[in-house]
This record gives sequence, structure tokens and C-alpha cells, in this order.
Amino acid sequence: MHSDKIRVSAPKIQNRQFVKPLLCGPGPCDYWPSVAEAVANPIITPNCDEFYHVLDDIRAGLQYVFQTQSKLVLAMSGAGHAGMEAVINNLVAPGETLLIAARGIWDQRAEIIAKRLGIKVEVTRVPMNTTFNLEQIETELKRLRPAALFITHGDSSTGTVQKMDGLGQLCHKYGALLLVDTVVSLCGHPFFMDEYEADGVFSSTQKAFSGPAGISPVAFSTRAEEKINNRKHEPSFYFDVKLLAKQWNCYGDTRIYHHTMSPPMLWALRACLQEISNTTLPVVWARNAASTAHFHKRLQEHGFEFFVPKPEERLTTVTTVALPKGVDYLKFTAVLREKHNILILEGRGPTEGKALRVGIMGVNARIEVADTVADAMADTLKTMLSLY
Ligand code: PMP
Repeated sequence: MHSDKIRVSAPKIQNRQFVKPLLCGPGPCDYWPSVAEAVANPIITPNCDEFYHVLDDIRAGLQYVFQTQSKLVLAMSGAGHAGMEAVINNLVAPGETLLIAARGIWDQRAEIIAKRLGIKVEVTRVPMNTTFNLEQIETELKRLRPAALFITHGDSSTGTVQKMDGLGQLCHKYGALLLVDTVVSLCGHPFFMDEYEADGVFSSTQKAFSGPAGISPVAFSTRAEEKINNRKHEPSFYFDVKLLAKQWNCYGDTRIYHHTMSPPMLWALRACLQEISNTTLPVVWARNAASTAHFHKRLQEHGFEFFVPKPEERLTTVTTVALPKGVDYLKFTAVLREKHNILILEGRGPTEGKALRVGIMGVNARIEVADTVADAMADTLKTMLSLY
């Protein structure tokens, strides 16, 4: 039918052979086997009980992993950037000031997003292989009186983890909300949303959750809810948390259609949350910490140096490693992939050409994986040094 109108002919789309590497970069991480199965579950449609049950299960699981009793907890359709944009767009109005605590690439993304939304941006910095102390943040909050502070908990570009204790309380003292990126830390490194008094937190599923990218958990505190309910500005329709809260039935009395969510993503996130809830967070955190500590010990035995000098500032999920002078980072990752079929990544943004980024997290947070990757890295370094 209508073949006379076809001007673009059908392409030959062929399957190629692909040997999947062990995914040990800063993300995406490998799936849990249960997640791979869950993605293939039957499609569920809105307006059926099972769909609603899945949303409710996900919200309960997210309250657990965020460690929040807040009701306004749901997942955005989209990658981690969707969570970032949703938190900023819903909590900071055009013309208000967002203070960004910068030490990597993700705060740069927050800056770009905020500026496009007409938000005034102020930036405070620390050297990229360190983290912030409360005094520096307090000085800036006092001086600028921003509507919110944006900070990254685990920074996958630098391999640092920000201490969160007292940060929310400090922000609230100066009338600011606390917005936190937990994309690469949640479910890998301890995080307690209510205890930290964080107001807008987002994450993503392709890192320590060990699921696919494409669905991003977000959570808002009661302070954030108050701001959302009284705000004068209209966030973008797709990211409007007031509407999404109705679709996710956050308050127990609404089941509306906002957009079509992806059933495979919902099944996958639910399966990740089942894995983590069944294992329990303390056990999951301990497993991530133990495998990364072992990885660090093995790296040291092989003579590698850490990019982050202070052990207490090193992220549990992603380790940054400095190579000897003159060794090419990109080539190192290519040789590791070719010889050992392990994928790690070189630095990104401020760490480009300065660090390797290695993720031992989620389903790969195992001593055997840590040994395999450390030994392969040592062998790769030997190969590289023999070339010079
Ligand atoms: N924040 C952090 C800390 C990240 O590691 C990433 C992804 N590497 C993002 C935000 C952005 O997430 P996504 O690529 O899923 O949009």
C-alpha cells in the first residue's frame, strides 16, 4: 500500500555480534539477573490494578532507599538528568538564586539547567579531589541568602563523597532548601534523607541500583512540598511534580494520567528495590564498602595511586585512580577492554586526562570482581609501561 510514495528505502538493520564487557566504569553497572528477567515481564497498562500496585511498591521501596517518611516520592521517566531538572525546576523559581557547591561535572550540569530556567546561579568551589566543610557553605549561605543549595553527594567525575551531616539544618537556618544529587551513591553509600534534612533528592537506576538507565527516583521533603504548593512559577509540564504526584498517587486519593510510563522500566526499578529491600540497606552498604576497600588494598599492592588523597573522602561506589606520568588514560581503558574485556572509563570534565574511574558497585560489589579488575589493571599498566 502506498509503495509508490516511498522515497526512503528500508535500511538493513542487522544484529551484530557483541561480547558484553564487565561493566566496571562509573556507570552503567551490570544488572541483577532478576532485573534482566523483570524487564521482559508483560506490559502493564495504566487503569489496571497491577499497574497501581507496581507504582505503590516502587514508592515504598524508594522511601526505604532514600530513608524518608515523606509522601512526595516517585520516579521520573528519564535518566538522572530528568531527576536533576525536576528537582531544580520545581524548587527554584526564575529570578531566585541557586547556590551551587562545585567540585566536578554534575554541579556544572546543574548550573546549565538552572541558567536555562532563568535562575540566578552562584558557585562556590573546592579543589576537585576534596569535599566541602560546613564553614565554607555557611559563609556563602550567609552572604548570598539563596533559595537553595545544590550539592552532589557522590561525585562520579572525581570519586569523592560529600559528608552530609548538618547540611540541611545549616541551609534551613538561612532559609535555603537543600538539593542533593545521589545518582551514583544511593544504594551504594549510606544516605539518610530525613536525618540530613535534604529537601529535593534525585538518583538514577543504572549505578548502585544495578538496573537500566531511564527511570530516576526523586524525593521531596515537607518543606519542599510547602514551597511546591505555594509557588507562583509554573515548572515545565513534563517535570511538574504536583501533577506527577497525582499520577503516582502520592497522597492516596488520585490515579490520573499524566504521561505513559514505560512498563519495562517500572518492572526493572521494582526488581532493583526488591533486591535491595530483601538484602537490607546495611548489608548492601557493607558489601559495597568491603569490596571497594578490598579493591583499594589490591590497587595499593599493585602500586597505583589514588586521585582523592584522603581515604574518608573517597566514594564507595566509584574509585578514581591516577596513572604514572606520561601514561595515556584513554589508551589504558582501550587496552584493558581489549585484553581483559573490562570496561572502565577515563576522567570526565575536570578529571579528563587526570584520572581513571572504576566502579565496583551494585551487583559487581564482590571481592572476586575487585580482584579481577585490580589484577587486570596491573597487567594493563605493565603492558602500557613496556610500550614507553
Ligand atoms: N549525577 C551523577 C553523580 C552522575 O554520575 C550522573 C551520570 N553519570 C548524572 C548525574 C547524570 O545521570 P544520567 O546520565 O543518568 O542522566
